[in-house]
Parts: sequence; C-alpha cells; structure tokens
Amino acid sequence: MKKKYNVLQILTKVYGSTLKAVPFSGILGILNYLVQGMFPAVTALISAGLFDAAYLLTREGDTLTCVIFYGSLFVGTYAVVYILQFISSITINAGIYERCTSYYHMMLSEKAAKLPLISFEDTEVLNLQSRAKDCAEREILSQIYMSSTVFITSGISVISTISVLAFYNIWLVPVSIFSVLPYVVARVLRGKEFYLLKKAQAKKARRLEYLWGLFHNKQAVKEMRVMGFGEYLAQKWTETRDEVNEELWQQNMKDGKSMLLCDTLKIAGYGLSVLLALLYAVKGDISIGVFGACITAFKAMQEAAKSFLIDLGNMPEKTAFANDYFEFLDLPEDRNGTVRIDGIKQGVVLSHVSFAYPNSDGYALKNISFTIHKGEKIVVLGVNGSGKTTLSKIILNMYPPSQGEVRYDGVLSSEIDKSSLYTYVSVVPQNFVSYSLTIRENIAISDLAHLQDDSLIKQSLVSSGLQSLLNEVGGLDEQLGREFGGKELSGGQWQKIAIARGLFKTSELIILDEPTSALDPLLETEILQQFLEIARDKTAVIISHRVGLCKMADKIIVMKDGRICEMGTHYDLIRKDGEYRRLYTAQEQWYR
Ligand code: ADP
Repeated sequence: MKKKYNVLQILTKVYGSTLKAVPFSGILGILNYLVQGMFPAVTALISAGLFDAAYLLTREGDTLTCVIFYGSLFVGTYAVVYILQFISSITINAGIYERCTSYYHMMLSEKAAKLPLISFEDTEVLNLQSRAKDCAEREILSQIYMSSTVFITSGISVISTISVLAFYNIWLVPVSIFSVLPYVVARVLRGKEFYLLKKAQAKKARRLEYLWGLFHNKQAVKEMRVMGFGEYLAQKWTETRDEVNEELWQQNMKDGKSMLLCDTLKIAGYGLSVLLALLYAVKGDISIGVFGACITAFKAMQEAAKSFLIDLGNMPEKTAFANDYFEFLDLPEDRNGTVRIDGIKQGVVLSHVSFAYPNSDGYALKNISFTIHKGEKIVVLGVNGSGKTTLSKIILNMYPPSQGEVRYDGVLSSEIDKSSLYTYVSVVPQNFVSYSLTIRENIAISDLAHLQDDSLIKQSLVSSGLQSLLNEVGGLDEQLGREFGGKELSGGQWQKIAIARGLFKTSELIILDEPTSALDPLLETEILQQFLEIARDKTAVIISHRVGLCKMADKIIVMKDGRICEMGTHYDLIRKDGEYRRLYTAQEQWYR
C-alpha cells in the first residue's frame, strides 16, 4: 500500500490538480508572485537614484527633474504591486484556497465511495483516510501551491537583490546570507518532527472524533445520562484531548524557541550589515543614496531569503502530509466485474469460503459451503461472534472471500457486475438507519422509481403492520423523527419501517441481519412471520441468534466459531441432538 512520492512528484501533482480545479486563479497567482519577485531589487535601484537626486538637490542645488523622475518611478512601482496584490488576494483566497479545498474534499469523498467496502474494516486505511482529510481541511495542498510559487518569487528576489548588494559592496552578501541560514535548519528539523507527531496522533484524533460524536448521538446521550457514564466518557475525551494538545504544545514550544533564536541571529546580521555599509559610506566608497538603498535592499533581501528558506524548510512537512492525500487517492478501488445478470434464477452457491478481516490474525469464516436455492427461506443461527454478519456480507458480495468462491447463477462474485446484482438484492442491516425523512421516503427510498406511487407505499405499510402509524401520522408526506419536528417512533415501529423498506425494493433475494434483535422474542417472531408472509415469493436469508422462526425455515444453518456446525430443517436438527437442539431447548420457554 505504501507509495512514497518525492517532493518534485508532489509538486507536479499539486500544480496539476490546482490548475485543473482553478486555472484562472492559479495562473494569476503565479504571475503576481513572479512580478513581486523583482520588486525588492527594482525598488533598491530606484531608491538609490532617488536618495542621490534628493541629496544633490539639497546640497548642490541640482534641478528637480531627477527627483521627480525617480519619485514617480518609486510611486509607480508601489502602485503596480499594490494593484496586483489586491487582485490576486481576492483570486487566491476565493480560488486557490476556498474552491481548491472543496475540490480536494470532493476528490476524497469520490475516492471513499469507490473503495472496496472491506477497506473500511482496515485500521491502516482508516488512519490514512483521516490524515488525508486532515491534509485537505488544513489546506495543505493549496499552501504547497502558494508557498512553492512564493518560493520561486523569493528565489528571484534573493538573487536579484544579492546582485544589487554585490554591485554596491561584495561584503554585504555573506553577512546577509549567514544571518538567515538558521531558519532552514529549524524548519526542516521541526517540520519533520511535526509530521511524525501528527502521523502518530492519527489514531488518537479518530478516538477524539468518536468520543465527541457520542455526545451528539441521542441514543448514546440518553444511555450515558441514565447509566451515569457521561462524565467518564467526557473525562476520557478530555484526557485524550489533553494528551494530543500537550504533545502539540511541546512541539510548538520547541518550534518557538528555534524561531526566536533565528530571529535574534537575523537582527544581529542586519545590524552588522548597517554597520558595514556605514563604514563604507564614511570612507566614501559608496554614496549616501547607495547607503540608504543598501539598507532597504538588505532588509528586503533578508525578508525574501527568510521566506525562501522557511518555505524550503516547510516543504518536507507539507509534502509528507500531501503524500498521505495522494496515497489515499491511489488506494486500489473496488473491482467490479463485467458479467451482468438479469435475476437470480437458480441461487447462490458458496464453496469452501473462508474469510479473514484485514489486520486480523484469525479467520471469521472457515470453510463455509452451502447453496441458497431460489425461493428458499434460510435462517442462519448462532451465538454472537459466530460469524453470521460476516457471512451475510459475503453473500451480498460486499467482501470478497479470502479463500473459496461465491457464485450467483454460476457467475463468480469477482466477475459479476455489482450494480446488476444489487438490482435483485435487498438488505435490512443490523444497524439500519432511522431516517429523519418523510414516511414516504423512509419506505420508497429503496426503490426511487416508485417514490410517488402512493397506493404501493400504503399497501407496503399495511402489510407490514404499520396502518395505525400511517393513520396517526396523517399522511405519507409527514416527517418522521424528532430532529426536524416530526413524529418519533418506537423501536419496534422503526424496525417495521426498516423491514418494509427492505421489502419495498423489487428484489429476488433479501437478507435480514437481525434488525429485530432488540425486540422481545415474541414480538420479534411476530414481525418476522409477517416478513415471511410478504417475502413468500422471494429468496430470504434471516440472520438471528434466536430460534423463534426456525420451524418455518426451509433450512437452518447453525454457525459456531466461524464454521457451519449443523445444517438442516428444524426436525432434522432436533433429532440430531447437537448445537441446534441445545439452543432450542435453552430458548424454548420464550415462545410459550
Ligand atoms: P455475529 O454476526 O455472529 O455476531 P460477526 O460476523 O459480527 O459475528 O463476527 C465474527 C467474528 O469476526 C468475530 O470474532 C468478530 O470479532 C470478528 N470481526 C467482526 N468484525 C470485524 C472487523 N471489522 N475486524 C476484525 N474482526 C472482526
């Protein structure tokens, strides 16, 4: 997965994407800085002429013409630079920063949408994504674009101003250069340390985000209030935040100290140069005008060199962040097969499927083989952690098997076109979403072609036992959920809505991953029986850790430690006197 880009490659990529996202502002930004690069040298030359002309006017009664000429040039140069700065500051802020940042965010979202779903189970990918997001949010790529442009400008300023200084007196050059060199050392060292620190902090940053999110999740807030662990979580958040801030603070302190040392050296260098120039002026080696211009030029050169060296020193840190961004964009995308299907006419066959999560030692599924025949109603039964949800994701072709194969009507899962498969498949996940949308949307969002089909939606509500809810709410376009002032539903009602949504999609295979596990066993069985009634023409896989529905299933698959330990009908398995019988006997009293 690691792919390191060098600075030049990063710069090429940053320039490419900036000029693609905001060509006008990008080019204007470069032009502006290039013109500004010549400014210090030009003003030094003009001010030398102006000072000398003014000196001659006051001391030797020379004509005003020269002063007016240099004065106009001086003012004109400033005017041009200010106008350019004004125009480019608008285009740079609005274009290179704001528009580019939203472009980079969009690229990250588009990429995330194309990643294989299994990537989201990989902590390395999640950390890389978090760092790439950090890079976009902190506008690092735009900063690289701007500072590399400023870097070139400062380079031009330094070289042209050094030439002017050398022209006046060669000794002014080394003094000015030595006074700014410490900046680069400080920036390179600190910059790298800062990146490494941020990299190490990615996991903590995600934890902070997670804990913060809990305080904005109404379920979690209610639970923490009643159970009294809100303070514990708040403290955990504070501790993590303090840890992160302390590390950053230490780093910034180090940074601040080295910058202070650099500034002191710079001031000393400046003082030395003024002294040297004064000596030459007193000796008569340079004119008064050149002395004045020399000081201005020296200051400008110091500023340009400082900016040049700081930008150079900051590059390793910035490009390291940018590397994460481009590395994330380079992650392999979900491979989609090309074979389209027009229905699941025979069924789904799993042969010797094993599956291991990324960065995980053991297998979550081991050597699973069975067939889902068309029209069959299968219950996958097992205690928590036995591999049921993982199996559902394999059946849905969300995760590729690590070993073995899955075929849909004979087509290998890796070769099938997923969009054609998903036309015929529906799912009601364990952690389904209760959408704060209208009741119409909550049902028909799974089949947008029928979003306005009132009678179909009403029929779906009635057959899912939601007629009374519809009467209560008053109409299909009424808002559900309290977020936007709509009606809040009970847990059971949301579950019925989720199942109705799953069934509303015209699918041939539907998978129910314990959406009712939070309900009491009798209510769960009632809802699932209703589900089976509506899904009678479909192939259905129902995942459960309860035996309530098993008598009605065509086939029961009992999972244990990632393996299928038993398979058959209720009566087969009861006779077998194994795991199923054990589970059934333990739960039997719930259904009396
Ligand atoms: P069930 O649905 O039966 O409760 P799961 O399929 O969720 O079981 O989990 C099966 C096994 O896989 C468990 O040991 C669980 O810890 C492991 N597992 C689940 N999700 C992940 C993940 N994202 N990364 C690593 N291991 C996981």
